[in-house]
Amino acid sequence: MAIAGEYPVQTDEATIPRTMRAAVYRGINDVRLESVPVPSISAGEMLMRVHSCGVCGTDLKKISTGSHSAPRIFGHETSGVVAAVGPDVTKYCPGDRVIVFHHIPCRECFYCLNKTFAQCSTYKRVGCTAGFEPSGGGFSEYVRVMDWIVEHGTVRVPDGVSFEQACFVEPVNTCLKGVYALNLRPGETLLTIGQGPIGIILSVLAKRAGVTLITSDLYPERLKIGSSFGLDLTIDASRTNVVDRVRELTHGRGADAVILAVGGNSLIRTAMDAARPGGRVLLFAQTQHGEAVIDPAAICVDEKSLLGSYSASVDLQDESVRFVMDREMDLERLISHRFPLTESVQALDLAAHPQPSSMKIVIQPGSRWKS
Ligand SMILES: [Zn+2]
Ligand SMILES: [Zn+2]
Repeated sequence: MAIAGEYPVQTDEATIPRTMRAAVYRGINDVRLESVPVPSISAGEMLMRVHSCGVCGTDLKKISTGSHSAPRIFGHETSGVVAAVGPDVTKYCPGDRVIVFHHIPCRECFYCLNKTFAQCSTYKRVGCTAGFEPSGGGFSEYVRVMDWIVEHGTVRVPDGVSFEQACFVEPVNTCLKGVYALNLRPGETLLTIGQGPIGIILSVLAKRAGVTLITSDLYPERLKIGSSFGLDLTIDASRTNVVDRVRELTHGRGADAVILAVGGNSLIRTAMDAARPGGRVLLFAQTQHGEAVIDPAAICVDEKSLLGSYSASVDLQDESVRFVMDREMDLERLISHRFPLTESVQALDLAAHPQPSSMKIVIQPGSRWKS
C-alpha cells in the first residue's frame, strides 16, 4: 500500500495555486468535479492541503436528501498537511501533518455544560471550508481551517502514522461516544447489528469494556473482516435468524445491549427483540427524521431502553486521538477503496450503494504525493 504513510513534498507557499479541483454538491444526487478558487485565509487561520478524506454516511445523506442548500463542498474526515498559516498562528507551520475536526463546541452554553455538545450553537457552526457555505471541504485539494478550529480542533499526526489511519479520528470519536452512552459493564453481552466499517469500530471499542460481543451482518465478507479484528462470534443474517440465535447464546434472555449500526428503520424491531428485558438499544445510524413502528410495551412492560448517539464529543477527543494514533486498531484495513479526487463522483456513488466487498471509502487528493 504505497500511498499509506508517505510524507508529502515540503509544502511551499509559493507553489499554492490560485484554483483547485473540488467535488461540488449542486443539488440532490448531483455532485460535480469543478475548478474553484483556493480559499484565502485570514489572521488565526490555516490553509490545509488535503491528503485523505473519508466518505461518511452523513455526507451521503445530505447529498441524497437535499437537506442542505447547494452549492457546498462536503468531506469532514480530513487529514493532510499545513500549506500556509495566517498571521498570529504560532502552534503550526507549513509542512505539519494534521487532522482537523470541523465542529468544536463553545464549552460554556447550556448544552455544553450538560455535555450534549452536538446541540451547542457554536458546535453547529462549521469551521472548515473549501468554499461556498462552510461544510467541511475535505473533498477538495485545499481547506481553509478557521481560527477556533486551529485553536481547539486541530491534531498533529505523529511520524509513522499514515494519513489514512489519521483520518479516522472523527469517526472513532463518534463511535466512542455511542459506546459510552450504553454504559457497558464487564461480562455483559452486546450485539452489534451491521458490520460495515462503523459497526466494526463500534464493536472493537465496546469490547474494551469487557463485554462478550456478538456481531451480525447480511454479508459474510464483512463478518470475515470483523473476525480479523477479533470479533469472532458472528451471525450470518442472510441464513440465520438473528433474534433466535442471540437468545440461544444468552440463556433465552436476549443481549444486555444492542447497537444498531445499519441505517433506515427496518431493523429497529429486530434490535429491540434481540435485547433482553431491561436491556438497552442504541440507534447509531438512524439520522433521518420520520416515523418508525415501535412496540411501546417493549419499553414500558419489558423495560427496554431506546437510546441514541450522534456526532462527536469534545470530551472524548484525547481518547479518540490516542486510540487512532497509537494504532490500537489498524483502521487502514477498513479501507476497501481509495479514489483520487478526480473520481470523487464514483467514490460517492459506490459509498451510497455499498457492495459486499466495499467497506470504508476514502477520497484521496494526495494519492499522487511523492515521498
Ligand atoms: Zn463523519
Ligand atoms: Zn456550547
